[in-house]
Amino acid sequence: MTAFRERIRDKKRIVIKVGSSSLIHEETGGLDLIQMEHLVRELCDLHNKGKDVILVTSGAIGVGRKAAGLKERPATIPGKQACAAIGQARLMMIYQKFFAEYNQIAGQILMTRNTMLRSQNRTNARNTFEELLAMGAIPIVNANDSVSTHEVQQDNDTLSAIVTALVEADLLILLSDIDGLYTDNPSVNPEASFVPVVEKLDEKLMGMGKEAVSGLGTGGMATKLIAAQLATSVGADMIIANGANMNVIHKIMDGQEYGTFFCGNKDEAFDFRSFMEEHFAQ
Ligand code: ADP
Repeated sequence: MTAFRERIRDKKRIVIKVGSSSLIHEETGGLDLIQMEHLVRELCDLHNKGKDVILVTSGAIGVGRKAAGLKERPATIPGKQACAAIGQARLMMIYQKFFAEYNQIAGQILMTRNTMLRSQNRTNARNTFEELLAMGAIPIVNANDSVSTHEVQQDNDTLSAIVTALVEADLLILLSDIDGLYTDNPSVNPEASFVPVVEKLDEKLMGMGKEAVSGLGTGGMATKLIAAQLATSVGADMIIANGANMNVIHKIMDGQEYGTFFCGNKDEAFDFRSFMEEHFAQ
């Protein structure tokens, strides 16, 4: 086991982000309940080991669309917001049910851009996280898509890094539909090779995820690299791994070599507010 992986075992506060692709059946748009149940079981076990656990979860718009019986993804922002309103409540109901099965409390935190930009709101959010964790609860976080248009267009990769910075977590795990970072987008370039460790994020690396933005429209590796920039600058380690099987969570926590490891590199000069303004200008 490498020293990088070894130190994972001592992590105390962990943020885990799952995307819709890990939670929703592609063919039908219905929730993958087996995956969700497995995810919750992994999180509860981590909590039983004495870790602080925070879940950042997508899926609200997809769940809401399905519940409302829409065949297509809503095209308008209000359409997406209405689906988010229906879907967020339903998603939480299902999470609550699974968490309750393991005798675990979960609490919902919906974040907006202003939660992070306004210092009073930021302090409030941080206090709520701290209080929830002190109570032994697992905070479940999403963007507040039903009231805030900016968030509808954002991704939860960056949100999860923002949460990592806010609560001073020491590890962020992004669960994706791919094993980690490659030297190029492997769905376009078969020559792309896997990158197991990123010790320092440089300009060349930041370019590796660019293809996803133009090719796939939203998200992709580019937002994960922005998340890595933020998380590692505040000193947290970050891992991108494949969430196709949720047992990857305890394997990572055991120090096994899954996913791409981004080394935390605390930058004392890092200014959270200017980072937010640069990436989230209105
Ligand atoms: P998720 O919804 O699981 O967060 P995304 O679809 O947003 O995942 O991003 C993962 C996708 O990014 C991969 O499936 C791949 O198609 C694409 N991608 C683009 N560039 C890269 C790269 N350099 N390494 C790995 N994946 C990449």
